[in-house]
Amino acid sequence: MVKALTCLCCGKCCFVDLIAYAQKEDFERWRKEGRQDILNIIEHRHLVGAGDRMISADTGDYSHECPFLYDEGEKFLCSIYETRPLVCREYQPGSSELCPQWKIGHTGGK
Ligand code: SF4
Ligand code: SF4
Repeated sequence: MVKALTCLCCGKCCFVDLIAYAQKEDFERWRKEGRQDILNIIEHRHLVGAGDRMISADTGDYSHECPFLYDEGEKFLCSIYETRPLVCREYQPGSSELCPQWKIGHTGGK
């Protein structure tokens, strides 16, 4: 069982660009909240699925970090935290190898 861990705000999960996996419910919420700023940024990226990654339909480049991630110096933070997509809310620190806390959550750090 994975222990509940505190997020270190290292930003690694956001460098995977989780927002590329926003769902219909997220888009509906953003429309309802009048968050055209978010919708414009996402639409402008023109991302499409390519196997297990997302690429730009314009350039063919892989997507990099989420456009809503920002560096606060010692931490990486989310500029739309209050309305971040479901995929981000559901991601638990240490729940995958992507997170530096994965080992702690699964082996107690051994
Ligand atoms: S929306 Fe926020 S929490 Fe989700 S990937 Fe982007 S920066 Fe990270
Ligand atoms: S990779 Fe883990 S510790 Fe880093 S920001 Fe994401 S959840 Fe937090």
